[in-house]
Amino acid sequence: MRFKDKVALVTGGSRGIGKAIVEALTKEGATVVFTYKSSKEAAEQFASELNGSGAITEAYQHDASDTEGAQRLVEHVVKIYGGIDILVNNAGITRDQLLMRMNEADWDLVIDNNLKSVYNLSKAVLRPMMSKRYGKIVNMSSVVGVMGNAGQTNYAAAKAGILGFTKALAREVASRNICVNAIAPGFIETDMTGNLNDDQKKMLQDQIPLKRLGKADDVAQVVCFLCSTDADYMTGQVLCVDGGMVMS
Ligand code: NAP
Repeated sequence: MRFKDKVALVTGGSRGIGKAIVEALTKEGATVVFTYKSSKEAAEQFASELNGSGAITEAYQHDASDTEGAQRLVEHVVKIYGGIDILVNNAGITRDQLLMRMNEADWDLVIDNNLKSVYNLSKAVLRPMMSKRYGKIVNMSSVVGVMGNAGQTNYAAAKAGILGFTKALAREVASRNICVNAIAPGFIETDMTGNLNDDQKKMLQDQIPLKRLGKADDVAQVVCFLCSTDADYMTGQVLCVDGGMVMS
């Protein structure tokens, strides 16, 4: 039980990678508040299943791009659960299009949901984490932020921005015993990659040294590692969970 007595906040926990992270953290004893944007029924059903099996979880509706809402969310978690030890900035979206055809609204939407969202909650948790002199922040980037990908300039810019943000914040808060790291997943089987057809999946698999797409739990286990005491001497790092696509 690596997270007994720890309180975690996970954004975008109703589906996909975030859901696997919530499951993995609760399995190891964490109390987890997770957010969703629109899938209220699925989020509440998931929380009640976990609570039924003895975990302490709460599904909380919050649009990760909403700055004032982020402050209210953190105040709620601190008031009800006594603090925040772990923040996983996982929520994200794509709106793919070649730059020639990308409109400003899709540029702004992707930057706000993937990058500004990380600013919003990371800033909001700093005060409670600093007062405890303890914190683990994990930001969900992507191999696309490391390698680029045609049709994803907005998403690549946001995910690369997360990497710079992670390293800068890691330097700002290391003296307060707050570790800030990022994960760059490759192609993971979730709703986000659900519209790939079999030919596209086959083409991707051929480019992945481990010859398979990743599972949400492949990412969740690395999140747990970074949030655990095993990673107490790691900050400002980027871990690629991508079957070997990026090797540095
Ligand atoms: P997903 O299956 O589409 O699930 C996205 C989750 O984020 C859902 O819980 C969704 O909530 C939530 N969400 C979206 N926008 C939100 C917002 N503005 N506020 C709060 N919650 C929001 O995505 P995924 O594949 O699990 O991806 C999770 C993260 O990993 C993302 O940051 C993504 O960019 C990154 N990633 C994914 C892959 C991949 O191959 N899947 C690869 C690299 C990186 P609702 O259910 O309410 O919509």
